[in-house]
Amino acid sequence: MNLLIVGGVAGGATAAARARRLSEEAKIIIFERGEYVSFANCGLPYYLGGIIEKKDALLVQTPEGLRKRFNLDIRVKNRVEKIDRENKRVKVTDLDRNKEYWESYDCLILSPGAEPFVPSFEGVNLPYVHRVRTIPDIDRIKNKIDSEEVKKAVVIGAGFIGLEMAENLREKGVETYLIEKTGQVMPVLDEDMAVILQREIVASDVMLYLNEEVIRIKENGKGCKVETSSGKVLDADIVIMAIGVKPETQLARDAGLEVGQRGIVVNSKMQTTDPDIFAIGDVVETKDPITGVSRNIPLAGPAAKQALVAVNNIFGIEDFYEGGFGTSIVKVFSLTAALTGATEKSLKSAGMPYEKVYTHPADHVGYYPGATRMAVKLLYAPDTHIVLGAQVVGENDIARKADIFALAVKHKLTVEDLAKAEFCYAPPYGTSKDAVNLAGMVVLNHLRGITRLIHWEDVSKDYFLLDVRTVEEHRKYKVPNSRNIPLDELRNRLKDIPKDKPVAVFCQVGIRAHFACRILSQNGFNSVNISGGYLTFINYRDAYKAGRVLAARTKIFEDETFCSGPTGEITKKKK
Ligand code: FAD
Repeated sequence: MNLLIVGGVAGGATAAARARRLSEEAKIIIFERGEYVSFANCGLPYYLGGIIEKKDALLVQTPEGLRKRFNLDIRVKNRVEKIDRENKRVKVTDLDRNKEYWESYDCLILSPGAEPFVPSFEGVNLPYVHRVRTIPDIDRIKNKIDSEEVKKAVVIGAGFIGLEMAENLREKGVETYLIEKTGQVMPVLDEDMAVILQREIVASDVMLYLNEEVIRIKENGKGCKVETSSGKVLDADIVIMAIGVKPETQLARDAGLEVGQRGIVVNSKMQTTDPDIFAIGDVVETKDPITGVSRNIPLAGPAAKQALVAVNNIFGIEDFYEGGFGTSIVKVFSLTAALTGATEKSLKSAGMPYEKVYTHPADHVGYYPGATRMAVKLLYAPDTHIVLGAQVVGENDIARKADIFALAVKHKLTVEDLAKAEFCYAPPYGTSKDAVNLAGMVVLNHLRGITRLIHWEDVSKDYFLLDVRTVEEHRKYKVPNSRNIPLDELRNRLKDIPKDKPVAVFCQVGIRAHFACRILSQNGFNSVNISGGYLTFINYRDAYKAGRVLAARTKIFEDETFCSGPTGEITKKKK
């Protein structure tokens, strides 16, 4: 078996190692146009920030190491130019020697990845403008920063890489501006969860501009000026372009393989439209198992799993990739945000029915020091109760919660399963009703009619809006038009509540409101609990203020007094 692999990083290196484990006889060549193979591109922002101190730590493997351990033929600085499908060979340029040659294959794996998207506006090629994909990219940025030439940085794009770069620039003491075209950071999240990150970014001293599009970058003496569509002009010594990635599909296109809108088309065996050519990683599009929509998921986990599937099939072990759920996680200063499966946005755009619930549980019991709250948004199918997706934002234990939700989504578990799942518990680690259990339990109470939920967007003047927090909480964090009857006084003050209107109850997170609804419904009131309480209210408010999309139906926000507080264009500094 002559196995050729294009690309020697996440997908390519994984595929090669697996191939060797399955066959000692196969001739395996990796072509990598860069000088490094198998490096940790995910670690690049943290190398910049100094958390990863040594560059060597980024080199998961070296060409020499791969040769020795796996008996692989590693050809760095060798670029594959063309695929000749008819003769089953590829044309390669040896970049050092500037020589072209052909290499034959029985099977070919394409893992060329995705390149940073470069817009077409003026100034994108100025020397101040950098992208982040490779070790040489981060070296250039780091050298510039370490030589103290850089006082101000503009990061364009607030997705994963933009956020990580902004944080690490800030860690290096650089005044950092983060510009995002849409009304939220991390566009893969729903906006009512992204706002939590927005507040953290601002509090961490990064200037955040949402709904701002960069239209031009101009030379300005020793630095440059970044101009935006609304007329802002920001001085910068360095600009990081992080506005997304574009699958490197040209080789496949030129070879006549089918390429969709989001990447190379593959079947569940990771075969392209040519059965001898497989494609994996950032370059492919796969079907979203929930919405059925074709997606490109440029993440290391799917690349590694697809590599195994492709190689297994090549060596006669039938294997299938069932599509990616976009399970991902990002650190944003002291917060972590993670998601899996469908979001409210993706379900809406796919036209799929869904229901949702918001909770704000503690990561571990409050009496054990260091407990912090997290925000959970769970989406489920109204008819089958199957979990469709979840988003979790908070300080501690976010990855564990998100990973449990990820398994639930993958295995089509229901909210009932979540409520009843058994998790490990001791005070330093969790609560006896884990955050995942709790999300399921709240939905179960709703489905069983014990305490029905509504959402802030459904609250109208037709409801009697009842705040059951303490008088102090009500005064300090007020929801306009709400009446305050603290939970502990409720039984004695039922006469203050009208019986001819539904009562929409809220507290800080939803628990006291649940108790209040139980008291009310057993006393003949028609009551509902506003999911997620006040903490969800402020997320909606800030999302409304910044994006005005999801929460636009929330009538109460039409009153501008609801919109006080941070987000949007923010210039407040922490220090
Ligand atoms: P790559 O790993 O990009 O490898 C493709 C290689 O192919 C490249 O080295 C390229 O030079 C080479 N190549 C392309 N064309 C040719 C050719 N014609 N001939 C020879 N060689 C060629 N994912 C996560 O899951 N979590 C993270 O935290 C995370 N952080 C990231 C941070 C950064 C800064 C970056 C850039 C990416 C991050 N990712 C993260 C994404 C993850 O790195 C990618 O999803 C993964 O590397 C994709 O693997 P791949 O094999 O498809 O492509």
